[in-house]
Amino acid sequence: MVEEMEERGLGGEEIEFLRTSYREYYYRAASSMWIPRRLEAREVGFLTFDGGHRRHLHFSSPGELIAEILREIPWGVFYSVSLYEDPGNPEMERKGWVGADLVFDIDVKDLHPACIEEHDFYLCNDGSVHRLAERPMGCRRVDWVCPMCVDAGRKEVLKLLDVLQRDMGIRPDAISVYFSGHRGFHVHVEDENLMDMGREARAQIVDYLMLNSYNPGFLEGFLRTTEDGLETLAGWPWRIADVLRQRYGVPPTLRALEALTRGEVEAAISSAVRDVAVHVDPQVTMDLSRIFRMPTSLNEKTGMMKQRCADVMACDPLKDAVAIGDYPIKVEISYAPKLQIGGYTYGPYKRTALKLPAFVAAFLVSKGVAKVIK
Ligand SMILES: [Zn+2]
Repeated sequence: MVEEMEERGLGGEEIEFLRTSYREYYYRAASSMWIPRRLEAREVGFLTFDGGHRRHLHFSSPGELIAEILREIPWGVFYSVSLYEDPGNPEMERKGWVGADLVFDIDVKDLHPACIEEHDFYLCNDGSVHRLAERPMGCRRVDWVCPMCVDAGRKEVLKLLDVLQRDMGIRPDAISVYFSGHRGFHVHVEDENLMDMGREARAQIVDYLMLNSYNPGFLEGFLRTTEDGLETLAGWPWRIADVLRQRYGVPPTLRALEALTRGEVEAAISSAVRDVAVHVDPQVTMDLSRIFRMPTSLNEKTGMMKQRCADVMACDPLKDAVAIGDYPIKVEISYAPKLQIGGYTYGPYKRTALKLPAFVAAFLVSKGVAKVIK
């Protein structure tokens, strides 16, 4: 992390600015911070402003955790999805695993929306900026975020929620959706009946969501069935049939699709499979020793907070997740694509010095594309 800080050009002034902004936020938000249920059985971890990690922390009350956040002013706050008998034990095998929440991470980068090619870029040491396709050697990739990224993420979240609720029977009130504070969404399932699922069972859920065990021959079998046969479909075979039905306006039986060539049928099915598969990060769901970003804490990649999206389509995270104040900060920007944040549009900027609201400056400084000018 220390290397990453140097790479992002975060010097003393930048760290001081971020730390001051984070401190101001955490003091203001102290009484309304989200606290994991059964905190006393969780491991807590901090990413600190000197680039270090503090893991295996444990707190017996929300007040203790808040007090430590206010004392440390961490750059990132994380908590274990798992519950332990001895959460503070530094040896994972000795913590005494009791159970874990079921969590999912949707990273917009994995969804490949077209905007990524437009706004992500490489920044080289000589200050030159390159498009992704150029793949310059020895330069740093800078990930950006825009409303299109958020939309791509939302759609994936809705697919995930539908499978969790309809195929797995999880109650809607056990599911919470959060914007990660950067470029993704986290979905938390807190259901006592699912807590004791081990890594293997979680891997099977991921396989099901991502259609990893999908076998093209299996569905072709269904395509030889009659229209009545389609009624018996459930789970993802039904979802694929439904996509084909919507796309071709007819039930996906072989008879209905026989006007197409074999290649076209295969292409239609693979495209339907891509639509139906939910792209989650498998490791996040399967890794039971992971610590996960805490809701209402600030994301060190942007300075925005991990924020609840109670209504996935209606929430506006690039506005609502702004947590740092809007007092003016003078920055020198090397390069920044257009940024839509806090309800306004900033930039694009190239080799410019100007005053910006602190939350915009924090985003640019965190991305390593701006320096603070005193
Ligand atoms: Zn985008």
